[in-house]
Amino acid sequence: MALDAQTGATIRGNGRVPGLAYGVARWVQRAELVSSGTPRDGAAADGTAPTATAAAPDAEQVERERQRFVDAAGTVSARLDARATAATGVSAEVLAANAVLARDRGWAKAVGKEVTKGLGVEAATLAATETFVEMFTRVGGRQAERITDLRDVCARVIAELRGLPEPGIPAFDQPGVLFADDLAPADTAGLDAAMVLGIVCEFGGPTSHTVIIARDLGIPCVVGASGLTAIEDGTPVLVDGGSGTIQAEPDAQAASAAAAADRELRDKAAAWTGPAALADGHRVDLLANVKDGEGAEDAARGPAGGIGLFRTEMAFLSQPSEPGVEEQAELYARVLGAFPGAKVVTRTLDAGSDKPLAFTGMPDEENPALGVRGIRVDLLDRGLVDRQLDAIAEAGRRVGAAQESPWVMAPMIATVDEARDFGERCRERGLTPGIMVEVPAVAVAVDRFLPHVDFLSIGTNDLTQYVMAADRMSSGLAALNDPWQPAVLRLIHRVVETAAASAAGGTGRIVPVGVCGEAAADPHLAMVLLGLGVSSLSVAPAALPFVGAALAEVTLEQCCAFAALALDADTADAARAAVIAAARD
Ligand code: PEP
Ligand code: MG
Repeated sequence: MALDAQTGATIRGNGRVPGLAYGVARWVQRAELVSSGTPRDGAAADGTAPTATAAAPDAEQVERERQRFVDAAGTVSARLDARATAATGVSAEVLAANAVLARDRGWAKAVGKEVTKGLGVEAATLAATETFVEMFTRVGGRQAERITDLRDVCARVIAELRGLPEPGIPAFDQPGVLFADDLAPADTAGLDAAMVLGIVCEFGGPTSHTVIIARDLGIPCVVGASGLTAIEDGTPVLVDGGSGTIQAEPDAQAASAAAAADRELRDKAAAWTGPAALADGHRVDLLANVKDGEGAEDAARGPAGGIGLFRTEMAFLSQPSEPGVEEQAELYARVLGAFPGAKVVTRTLDAGSDKPLAFTGMPDEENPALGVRGIRVDLLDRGLVDRQLDAIAEAGRRVGAAQESPWVMAPMIATVDEARDFGERCRERGLTPGIMVEVPAVAVAVDRFLPHVDFLSIGTNDLTQYVMAADRMSSGLAALNDPWQPAVLRLIHRVVETAAASAAGGTGRIVPVGVCGEAAADPHLAMVLLGLGVSSLSVAPAALPFVGAALAEVTLEQCCAFAALALDADTADAARAAVIAAARD
């Protein structure tokens, strides 16, 4: 979103929960996690690591300090449990998990050990906590993300030992944007979504509790925003949870209008539960793009009508050697089984370019986007795709009647020979063959490809990059890499019209044409695509409710009118503006 007048700094992080939030920044105040230096506390007064400087304690002193920890940790645990009982969903789970952490025997034992070295209970608690933090840091990954949980529980226990109120988020007297170094689970679990418009953290990974809970509550969220401390408490900010930007002191009127419009969209999307249909009742095949079994099962719990693109290469990105047919079949069966009786389109490996797969043995190339990628892996080893097709066929057999003749498509098809060959290999195995239309050569000569396949899926991400000769990874070329570009829309139109004409013109074979690139996730462009005659749209699950809710407000007749407007424009911006204006009226 571009604002006309912006007076403050812009900070960038990782947008994790999309949406705009405009309000004042409210920083979480943290308890000082240093020893207060009470008797027997061996921490340095400047807060550096505590050392055992006190004389060796007697057994009675050790027991007394140890018991103080057990009591304080028990009180904290009981409070967290009580809050867990009062909460629901993910919040309840997070609070309960932290209550268990406060009672952790290993932690209590480590504190006891520090106490016997001569540390007071506060210093011992801090020292024991840091031992675990170091360990979690060494292990890394998800374990490292739990450090925030442990530090939060530690801060609560220390506050209890000092007789202070529990640390946490500030009381909001008006809605605002929560700022923190990293949010503790117990903070996020108690969030009031009516008061917290957005969440921004200086640290935090993609699976942190902050992100999980923000997503659960539908609060726009950005994490990993380094330099955030430059924005002071009380500063008005506009946070974009999609792009990950935080603008300090934006133009107030423009920012609040943008946030209000965005909120309206999000409310509509949250209220939309499917199935997808236009306002006139015309059903829409609105499908999900997934990359693994978990994603497929998640999608099945939402309003997706099936899977329009299963990116199999994404499941194997970190694999050093080719997964065996059995391992592949297990994964594919999980994805097929997530949508019994519905459409599930598995794409064969689209390795290469931005998605290199070590085990394919692809060469380093000067220009990998135009090199060996997708179906061109056949040039190195046909066995890779053959074994994958064997695994998909086996997965189909395992799922049985729920997925008869699974749909499979090949990426980066450029020639009729490739399409014919792929079609034959699929049919030999009882699979339903399709190809992606992402190389312009296919779109231009699509009539020649139709006899060899049973469906087409337009990959607008690559189609746009190849039509416009603009690297899809280049942020500087984003304006060229826009699927609203007239040449891209005309090519899509040509593909759909040719497929329809071929069916009507005597072949009798209807070859459905779907779109599975990002273009389908833009609600206005989704309307245009349906107006052009596209029969299915496949989008990231997060975008699906936004598209579904927007489509529910327009008729097919309107979509056709929007398509005509878009096709008539000279530029991408003009096409977009014309359709947005028409949809608003
Ligand atoms: C596309 O190119 O539009 C597409 C869906 O494939 P990918 O983004 O995986 O290249
Ligand atoms: Mg592609």
